Formats: sequence, C-alpha cells, structure tokens
Amino acid sequence: MEAVLSVPPLVVGVALAVGLGLYWGLRNYQRCPHCGHIVRRVAQGWLRCRACGRQYSKGLRVR
Ligand SMILES: [Zn+2]
Repeated sequence: MEAVLSVPPLVVGVALAVGLGLYWGLRNYQRCPHCGHIVRRVAQGWLRCRACGRQYSKGLRVR
C-alpha cells in the first residue's frame, strides 16, 4: 500500500505535456469573434476567419 501516493514519472510527463500544450494553445489561438471558430491569434493587423470568412483583429475578442 506504500505505492498509492507515488505517481509514475510517465504520468507526470504526460500531465506536463498536456499542461504546456494547453498553455501554448491558449497563447496562440483565440475564438473568432463572429462565429466562435478556433482561429490563430492575431499578432499584428487583421486575419480572416476560415470558417465565416470575416476579418478579426487583435482587439476583437469575445471575453
Ligand atoms: Zn468566424
């Protein structure tokens, strides 16, 4: 019963990878302010949403 609290290193690695992936995804992607599609975050200027074809900019964010 002494192994209950010990976590296998593989699980820690996977959890770390998932956390980093989520963090990276949140930093680099946003939702389209028009249709809610996941789109790339704008660093500068405007981008066009592939789903609805409308443009969005850095300032246009839904929450
Ligand atoms: Zn859209």
